[in-house]
Amino acid sequence: MLLVPCPNCGPMNAADLSYNGESHRRPDPKTCTPEEWRTYLYLRENPSGWLLENWYCSSGCRRHFKIERHTLTGELRAPVLPGRKPGATQGDMK
Ligand SMILES: [Zn+2]
Repeated sequence: MLLVPCPNCGPMNAADLSYNGESHRRPDPKTCTPEEWRTYLYLRENPSGWLLENWYCSSGCRRHFKIERHTLTGELRAPVLPGRKPGATQGDMK
């Protein structure tokens, strides 16, 4: 069982979350080239090391968040809600 720390709910079984893949910046479709759009849609870095991923807490707070995962060790760190700094909690929303 893989425990993934949701920034709101704390450690959750990965089976209770949805993995939404590698996190990368979406280019502006009005200004990017077809090559940039194709790269955004189909190419992934797949590094040997730390990778920023998108997850969705489907059985808990139902919020999207990002977390860093080491692809070799499986270690997880720095879960963060969109628009927040790592380590921020629900109480920091005010
Ligand atoms: Zn949650």
